[in-house]
Amino acid sequence: MSIPFNNLKAQLAPQEDDLRAAFERVLKRGWYLMGPEVKAFEQEFAAWVGTNHCVSLNSGTDALVLALKALDCEGGEVVLPAHTALPCYHAVLAAGCIPVFAEVNEQSYCISPQSAARLITDQTRAVIGVHLYGHPCDLDALEDLCHKRGVAFIEDCAQAHGAASGGRTVGTVGDLSAYSFYPTKNLGALGDAGAVCGSSAEADQALRLLRQYGESQRYECTVPGVNSRMDELQAAFLRERLKHMDRLTAERRMLADIYDEGLSGLPVITPAVAEGCEHVYHLYVIRSQRRDELAAFLAGRGIGTGLHYPIPGHKQALFTSGNAPYRADELAQSEQLAAEILSLPLFPGLAPEQADEVCSAIHDFHQS
Ligand SMILES: *Cc1c(COP(=O)(O)O)cnc(C)c1O
Repeated sequence: MSIPFNNLKAQLAPQEDDLRAAFERVLKRGWYLMGPEVKAFEQEFAAWVGTNHCVSLNSGTDALVLALKALDCEGGEVVLPAHTALPCYHAVLAAGCIPVFAEVNEQSYCISPQSAARLITDQTRAVIGVHLYGHPCDLDALEDLCHKRGVAFIEDCAQAHGAASGGRTVGTVGDLSAYSFYPTKNLGALGDAGAVCGSSAEADQALRLLRQYGESQRYECTVPGVNSRMDELQAAFLRERLKHMDRLTAERRMLADIYDEGLSGLPVITPAVAEGCEHVYHLYVIRSQRRDELAAFLAGRGIGTGLHYPIPGHKQALFTSGNAPYRADELAQSEQLAAEILSLPLFPGLAPEQADEVCSAIHDFHQS
């Protein structure tokens, strides 16, 4: 590929020296788990998000699972969007809950609060609002809905580090918010890592027990737990990466502007940004009625693309086969989206000229 869909090496290149120094620091210290790097990262990330608490974990999936457990959701139903990443519904199942798939908003592609409202019953324990592709879901409406109906509101911020809506940063609104630091995320580690942020000291305590064997004091446990620690190396790398977040987000926005402009007038739908929202462009996803042809044409030009995501939750064999329980709203919009979406290359390190080249190729496709 002359223009790859993503290039992690290029993303990390400007920070190689910092990352090597972080590695040396941890290696020389000889303290590899639950040490000073994890503690510092939790403080620094909570301050960056704007919450009182941050509990570092092994992955974004665990962040959702343990957030659901910490909020006593086990055994109930959890409403989440049908159009989202696989880990969302696996986390719901792993927490001992039943996924209930809601429709998505036509413009933001995030969960529709109206659909979520239709699905809430006396079995519902939580609604998960996924800030998909880096665009905030409707925070005000979901916060209001969850409050009125007495269910927990969990924000899935795995794709939206630093996004904001109405002056509020994502991750500061829900009862708890889940983050992933999977290497391709806007804030990515050099391996698996995740965290839960929130403002409740009680939930913070519950999460700290859950993540390490339910251990209340050394070798004493009070609740069932797991092992979901973030290691010192990943925390040290993330501390270095966090220092560069403003620059990295600005670079994503600059590339998105090039695409917005370069693709205007063509028969593709570019990402909409809702009033008062700040998008962080984890992915730049367009819609085309000729999606498969377009993807093949771009591949022929050496341009990589992605599909996020080709199959909505309720259409996954996991559910249609009867291997896992679920409920769903009418999901026409989610099904149509899955057939039309195409993710274009957008990552820090992609040259503006390369984004221009992608736009030219899409022009050529529509002329041919
Ligand atoms: C990546 C992602 C997750 C899970 O993160 P992992 O760290 O890979 O477990 C959860 N939700 C969304 C929306 C994601 O994109």
